[in-house]
Formats: sequence, C-alpha cells, structure tokens
Amino acid sequence: MAVLHSQVLRPGGFSELFPAWARYPDAVLFAGGTSLIRSQGQELPKLPDNILSLEKIDELHRITRTERYLEIGAAVKLSDIIALGKTVPGAFSSTLLGIASPPIRNLATIGGNLCVCGDATAPMAALDARYELRSAGGIRWISANRFSSLPVNLSPQEMLSRIRIPLEQWTYTIYRKFHALTENDGGVLLMLIQNQKDILVKIQIVFAGKTLFRDKNSETYLEGKALPLDRKDAFHYRDLWKTYLEGLGKPGPLLRSKIINGIEAGILGLAD
Ligand SMILES: Cc1cc2nc3c(=O)[nH]c(=O)nc-3n(C[C@H](O)[C@H](O)[C@H](O)COP(=O)(O)OP(=O)(O)OC[C@H]3O[C@@H](n4cnc5c(N)ncnc54)[C@H](O)[C@@H]3O)c2cc1C
Repeated sequence: MAVLHSQVLRPGGFSELFPAWARYPDAVLFAGGTSLIRSQGQELPKLPDNILSLEKIDELHRITRTERYLEIGAAVKLSDIIALGKTVPGAFSSTLLGIASPPIRNLATIGGNLCVCGDATAPMAALDARYELRSAGGIRWISANRFSSLPVNLSPQEMLSRIRIPLEQWTYTIYRKFHALTENDGGVLLMLIQNQKDILVKIQIVFAGKTLFRDKNSETYLEGKALPLDRKDAFHYRDLWKTYLEGLGKPGPLLRSKIINGIEAGILGLAD
C-alpha cells in the first residue's frame, strides 16, 4: 500500500506511536508546537510534512510524587508544573516562570523544552534529574547532564518520555537568566546551596545555554566550610570557575564574564 504524505497522526499510546513512526520515519514529534513554529514570522506557520502528536498518550501527561522523587511525563505543560506549587523544587519553578509568557507556557511542554535544550535544561542538570527515553526497542535512562547540548542524546525514533527529579531540600537557590544579546550569550545560571546550621554541606552550580557548564571538581572545594564564608574562599571559588571555563576555551568572553560575575555575586552573598 502506498504511504500517504502530510499526515497528522494522534497515537493513543506507545504501542501505536512506534509502529506509526516506523511507517512514517520522517514524522516529527509534536508536543506543544511552540518551538516548531518559533521565529517563523509569516501569517501561517510552516509545519513538518508528517506530524506525530503526543497529545493523546496518557502516560506522557502523568505527574507522580514519591517521598524521594517527582516524576513528570514529557508532555506535561510548563504551566501545569508551575501550578504544583511547593512540590516543585525552587530552582525548577523559578526557571519555568522565566520562560516566555503564560500563554506560551500553557502550550509548551517540559519534554519539548528539554529536547531543544531550553531553559529547563539548567534546573534538570543542577538537580541531577534523570530522563526516561523510549523507542520501539524498549526503555533506557540517561542523566540530565548527558542530555544538555544540541543535538540531544536521542537515537533515531527515540523519544523523551519521563523526567525523574530527586526531591532534596536546598537552603538557597539563586536563579539568573541572561537574555541573549547575540545568538550565543543567553542562558540560565543556577546555584543551589545546602547548609546544616552554619556549615555549607553541598553546592551545585550550573550554567545552561548553548552548552551546559558544570564544574564538578570545584563543587567540593566549599563543602564543609563554615558560613558565612571567608571572602578569600569565595574569591578562590570564583577563580576555580574562571580557570575551568578558560580551560574549556568556551564560552566567548562576553558570556564568560556574565557567568563569572553571576557566580561571584552569588558566592559573595554567602561571605562575611
Ligand atoms: C515567543 C516564544 C518565546 C519563547 N521563550 C522561551 C524561553 O524564554 N525559554 C525557553 O527555553 N524556550 C522559549 N521558547 C521556546 C519554546 O517555547 C520552549 O522551549 C517550549 O518548552 C518547547 O516545548 P513544546 O512542547 O512547544 O515543543 P515542540 O515545539 O512541540 O517540540 C520541540 C522539538 O522537540 C521535539 N520533541 C517534543 N517533545 C518531544 C519528546 N517528548 N521526545 C522527543 N522529542 C520531542 C519536537 O519534535 C521538536 O523538534 C519560546 C518560544 C516562543 C514561541
């Protein structure tokens, strides 16, 4: 039988989605559609020839919470995550509130955002989230840190189906969004700090823009130090990040100085 073109397919479950994808290998997953039509400018947006809509797959719309994790289906809208309120780690909700405007957030999904390495990449990496990826062949899990630059770590005809976020208590969360002045200098900087009494026990800093930056080596430097921090330690920590970014040879000088200034301001806020 001849294969028809220009189809909008609405599978009712994974058991329908993957056979449909095999039949239309060029089909593009359509979640909220906001990224697919972004920046087109013309009155009628141009859509891919064949579309696989995720709207009717119940599992992709599920949210569950256990004592240790929050699990979110990939097709959950950003606004529905925000509406969960205090269940959502502060780093995640602050980032979602910084994305576009409420009408866009009512359409846009978390899976769509992560698959285009949007702003939600930063809290997912900082919170050590893991992603469930599905294909006709089965399921695999991947850390958010390994799914954070374009093209994302998906095999052909594989999709992001679920996000698992550890629920840890963070004492301070610092969120900064750098709006892009040029194509390459936007992104989200997140600093998560956990202390017990006057001791800093954990710090995780992530910048996600075109590329994800996280210096796991420097994270241990401040752990166990008394709060407020000694200013010398705070400046040394900033310098570790400087050395890390200079060693990578990216990002460019403008974004590098924005990240370093953001980290310096955040860390000095913990110093006397
Ligand atoms: C005016 C405007 C402002 C915006 N501002 C921001 C902003 O501030 N920050 C930001 O991060 N983004 C922004 N965006 C981009 C976009 O809206 C978001 O990134 C959004 O979350 C994308 O989600 P979606 O569900 O609409 O994705 P879609 O457009 O449906 O899909 C995006 C891509 O991901 C693929 N995809 C979708 N779901 C899956 C899945 N589960 N598995 C595998 N692949 C999948 C699609 O095939 C497509 O290639 C903006 C967009 C607009 C129009």
